[in-house]
Amino acid sequence: MAKEKLHEENNKNVHLRLLGKRGRDGRTYNLPSVSEVAVLIVGDLDAAFGDRDIIIECKSGKLQRINELYPSYLPLQYPLLFPYDEDGYTYDIPFAKSTGHDSTKFMVHGPCGIVRKSSPCMANGRCTKYFPKKYIAETNFDDDGYPIHRRRDNGRVILKDGVPSDNRFVVPHNRFLLMKYGGHINVEWCNQSRSIKYLFKYINKGYDRVTSFCETGSNGVEKIVDEVSLFYDCRYISSCEAAWRIFGYDIQYKNSAVERSSFHLPNEQYVVFEDSEPLERVVNRNSVRESQFLAWMEANKKFVGGRDLTYVEFPRKFVWNTDHWKLRKQRYSIGRFFYVPPGSGDMYYLRCLLNVIRGATSYEDIKCVNGIQYATFRDACYALGLLDDDKEYIDGITEASLWASAHSIRLLFVSLLLSETLARPDIVWTSCWKYLCEDVVHKQRKILHHPVLVLGDDEIQNLGLLEIEKLLVNG
Ligand SMILES: [Zn+2]
Repeated sequence: MAKEKLHEENNKNVHLRLLGKRGRDGRTYNLPSVSEVAVLIVGDLDAAFGDRDIIIECKSGKLQRINELYPSYLPLQYPLLFPYDEDGYTYDIPFAKSTGHDSTKFMVHGPCGIVRKSSPCMANGRCTKYFPKKYIAETNFDDDGYPIHRRRDNGRVILKDGVPSDNRFVVPHNRFLLMKYGGHINVEWCNQSRSIKYLFKYINKGYDRVTSFCETGSNGVEKIVDEVSLFYDCRYISSCEAAWRIFGYDIQYKNSAVERSSFHLPNEQYVVFEDSEPLERVVNRNSVRESQFLAWMEANKKFVGGRDLTYVEFPRKFVWNTDHWKLRKQRYSIGRFFYVPPGSGDMYYLRCLLNVIRGATSYEDIKCVNGIQYATFRDACYALGLLDDDKEYIDGITEASLWASAHSIRLLFVSLLLSETLARPDIVWTSCWKYLCEDVVHKQRKILHHPVLVLGDDEIQNLGLLEIEKLLVNG
């Protein structure tokens, strides 16, 4: 540093002071007796290496000595690494691009609240995203498994649109992604299945939308505005996406190896025909008798190899070829059933059976359990033990809860109640109330403007039952 000062300022008048300290061995630390210095070598790191003499240059250009233990000293150290065998340190070594800029540019919420009531996040005088958040010493999880990120109260403030914003306004993000892509990327750490459901819904929320805002005047200063004419809720398409679609490029490249295994009740297969087609021709068309499902039963008569497979497992070894199944030569794919709500009767029981039955060659075969022929799919389900204790409804609701909103699960529960399909509704409720009430706390938090409200199980159940009662009364 002293050397650079000498270079920079072309100033011969530099003092180099050598410190004489008491308490040191006078034989080692003798001050020189002449005013010339040849070389100074910073001491070896042995026990004799005592305090370092640290002199920093202030912005004013004055030099100041600080103690090695001074709290601001450590942040002033910048370890430099030269992993690619470059020349080492030079005084004009370029600075790396700073990352702080991106996070202040993209990842600070607001300004909103009292300083800008017109912000799009504001409703009824409050920020709907609950900013500013609280300072938090350590990252932890709330009762629902959602992360509450650390927000250090370290006094750091930046100006956003002229408004001071601190750590309480920072949107969770990842510095690496921010540097790489230079845009708003909200990153949250989720390792809980419930947060993954949130994520799943998030990425399927549809196209980006933007609320655009036309304004005359400056700086978002509040004035009387006609909100309807000023805000336009628009679908947002970036220039890249627009070009991509204009050129008709593929939106994604993956063909999933999952096939939809369609099935239907006897004589209820889908028939596609033109309005003008004569009925007779439609009915006599060969394809009417060749649904994928019927062809599966035909294939079971023909091929031994598929008889140990259920209908959804069938595509592993067979390929659907327009109107018949043939042995698969390469790769494999899995079948999946479409969802059938538990309240929908025979279709539901047929689906239950198809998950279990292997190698069926007719509808009668599907209804045959342990050599006994049953009259209905439902009876066959009972004989297989699939229908005890309303278990299939509990499974049905649990399955639906993986992707359906709590509201639609309540609708399902209500339709089961109204159709009197449930033998023990209380048992179904006890097993499934968490799914039926999943949105209750969130709703209450919104209604009461209380972002961290905690409710007991009893309260949640009561509020959920109220919602169900509303549906029953209306339904
Ligand atoms: Zn806000």
